Amino acid sequence: MLGAKGAELANLARLGMPVPPGFTITTETCRRYLADGTVPADLWYQVDSAMRGLERESGRAFGSGPRPLLVSVRSGAAASMPGMMETVLNVGVNDEVAARLAAWRGERFALDVHRRFVEMYAQAAMGAPAEALEAVKADARASAGASRIEDLDPADGREMLSHMLSAVEEETGHAVPFDPEEQLRGAVEAVFRSWNSRRAADYRAHHGIDPGLGTAVTIMAMVYGNADAESCSGVLFTRDPATGERRVFGEYLPRSQGEDVVAGVATPMPLDDMVGELPEAHGRLIEAAARIEAHYGDAQDIEFTVESGEPFILQTRAAKRSARAAVRIAVEMCDEGVRTPDRALLSVPAERVYELLLPRLDEGEAALARDGGRLLTEGLGASPGGVTGAVALSADRAVEMAARGLRVVLVRPETSADDVHGMIAAAGVLTARGGATSHAAVVARGMGKPCVVGTESISVRPDLGRLACGGRSVAEGEELSIDGETGEVFLGAIATVEPHFAEERHLGRLLGWADERRRLGVRANADTAADAALARGFGADGVGLCRTEHMFFEPERLELVRRMILAASAHARWPEDELTAWRLRDSLSRLQEMQSRDFEAILREMDGMPVVIRLLDPPLHEFLPTRDELLEDLHRLRADRAPADRIAEREEMLAAAEEMREANPMLGLRGCRLGIVHPEIFAMQVRALSDAVRALGAEGLSPRPEVMVPLVADAAELRAVRSIIEGALTGAAGPGGERPPGLRVGAMIETPRAALTAREIAGEAEFLSFGTNDLTQLTFGFSRDDAEGGFLARYIEGGVLSSDPFLTIDRAGVGSLVERALRQARGAGLKVESGVCGEHGGDPASVAFFEEAGVDYVSCSPYRVPVARLSAAQAAIGRA
Ligand code: PEP
Ligand code: MG
Repeated sequence: MLGAKGAELANLARLGMPVPPGFTITTETCRRYLADGTVPADLWYQVDSAMRGLERESGRAFGSGPRPLLVSVRSGAAASMPGMMETVLNVGVNDEVAARLAAWRGERFALDVHRRFVEMYAQAAMGAPAEALEAVKADARASAGASRIEDLDPADGREMLSHMLSAVEEETGHAVPFDPEEQLRGAVEAVFRSWNSRRAADYRAHHGIDPGLGTAVTIMAMVYGNADAESCSGVLFTRDPATGERRVFGEYLPRSQGEDVVAGVATPMPLDDMVGELPEAHGRLIEAAARIEAHYGDAQDIEFTVESGEPFILQTRAAKRSARAAVRIAVEMCDEGVRTPDRALLSVPAERVYELLLPRLDEGEAALARDGGRLLTEGLGASPGGVTGAVALSADRAVEMAARGLRVVLVRPETSADDVHGMIAAAGVLTARGGATSHAAVVARGMGKPCVVGTESISVRPDLGRLACGGRSVAEGEELSIDGETGEVFLGAIATVEPHFAEERHLGRLLGWADERRRLGVRANADTAADAALARGFGADGVGLCRTEHMFFEPERLELVRRMILAASAHARWPEDELTAWRLRDSLSRLQEMQSRDFEAILREMDGMPVVIRLLDPPLHEFLPTRDELLEDLHRLRADRAPADRIAEREEMLAAAEEMREANPMLGLRGCRLGIVHPEIFAMQVRALSDAVRALGAEGLSPRPEVMVPLVADAAELRAVRSIIEGALTGAAGPGGERPPGLRVGAMIETPRAALTAREIAGEAEFLSFGTNDLTQLTFGFSRDDAEGGFLARYIEGGVLSSDPFLTIDRAGVGSLVERALRQARGAGLKVESGVCGEHGGDPASVAFFEEAGVDYVSCSPYRVPVARLSAAQAAIGRA
């Protein structure tokens, strides 16, 4: 009811802090004013009597007496909306009052106070345009040859003020009220109305603040930072907001009023300089700051004014801080005994931990680039971090350029499996299409590379060797900088700042506390040994999803995979043909060897921890060039009179691609369906895994692989795949004829039907893992690759959906399927372990849901593991 500012000032007064006397009009009054268009009947009566109290307390009279009382009229909502609403200072001044102020503290002071009042009141309460007032000031400065308005001599100052008053009357048709009571009422109503100003409404919409809250109005006795040489106003932070270091950090401006520091009208001085100028006031401020911080148990951002050597506190609030500062402050406050570990864990927004792990664009340079017109466009920040690199317009070019030692930003219309090698070579990825779970976004996030997607205004033209955007053109090889958090794309280079996880001491300690507190396991989605090592370093408890297809996408393997696919499709047509059968066996056994080495490397990195290996999932045609590319190749080969066998090979691939073409590949031959149609592929993967396990076992290591079956819709599918697995294991006897140890087999729950029949599926499985990407896609019927670039963004902007269901789990729909499936599986008395391996596993709000739903672990990209560890702890604390 008092708004944050009013409530905190009341708290400070109660704490015995030096706060000027004042009172607050409630937010409810504002709501009534806005609803009725007029102030409630008894408001002015109440304000009058509160003003009499203020006069008694301050020993001054409002609008009269030798030391007249002036007040500030300040806005303040319950939610922070810095600078969005009006505030009017020095209310209660007119010519007569100014003459008294002049007699008390000199003419310059009186003029300064009067001019400040007129400026603020005219704009806030009367709608006078700022430019008209600025013009009056500029004229006065010019004719007096003064650089600052405060430097005018009193005669010039008086003249300027009278020009200003006339200008206000000209612009608004009204004179600035003379009567202090009328000024007060005008200022209060202006603050009420400013709740509905355009910028306040936009700010609320952007930050999700309830438009029905209304603002409170705090009326306080003025204290003057512009009274004399021993006066100033300023802002201080009780800890360094950038690093979190425990030291008071701030700025002040001598002979000023509070608005000057915030508005940046002059360059303020570092607070430390105040030690020499106003040592006693400085000492008392530091002491007060320490008490205020201790009271709140959090770093504070404090506004103060010193009047003739006497410090006053005008506002305190929790300080905004960098991610690094947030972590350090949380840990150190715990060490200081100010906070419990639980409170320390809750005080750091989990999402922000991610910011500590990636290089970022230097904020100062980015601001300069923005001001300098180098912002090319904005898209969706899909994977944080910042990078500058030379533009490469195809994956192959990216590889080539990177091999020449260039740092590359791969720019594509969108990415697919064919681009992965380019993404590996690139330092950052930019696409014209796609959303937060588009291929580019997921893969880049997994690699921990900055990525911006869905910058619709970019048109990528590899054929012309350039990209175009809003009338500008960037040639391949020229530099771009991308910011994966804000989605900004800049022309030219911007410096980056590097973090090092192992050296983030405070983060390490905070996450250690998180591990003690969390119930949920946190595993990583890792497809390579390097990812697994990274994930282990970030504190993962294992691998929750290894997408085996990602191993197939490396260029030299892709050839082999393609040969295997051609052979498999030919073999399906002519099962009797010896040559085809041999080709299939040969390509499978070579793939098996490679895959086995990959599995071995991952299991070695994660020795002793569970590693969930998912059998091949995507539709096979994803491994083939597109039909258009093949047609084009063929055209060229024929025109160049290429050797007949090369033409035949392309023709064969085209025939296979044609044959595999599906109208809805996402709903087609993929996941376990693929394994059931082509059992030889799954069998090869299981043999590869069992070879890897045997080799590691021989070294005395303890590999713990689990095999996961994707896209199950019916328990019968799982049974069929189990028997393929069984058969492969039986066939995979070691050199001494020994059968490899059994493997835990689990099912992905990523089709709605699987969730609805979880009891039957759980009966065939040792574990279940919710693939919430596909489950979201199939529950909503939103294509995960297309929806976000298009209508989904419109849905979110227009409020049809409150958030992106591919980023934060849709509790009501997808979430209830998850809960239902868990209930069913458990209700049947089945002891299946359950996990989540969709992108939601690294999203704090979703992790909170999974904690409530009671899954055993979440799995997310390596770089999100620290976020998930903290989120899991916060969710556990939240439920305690
Ligand atoms: C999923 O669908 O949630 C999942 C983890 O699998 P993928 O993203 O590979 O389809
Ligand atoms: Mg899936």
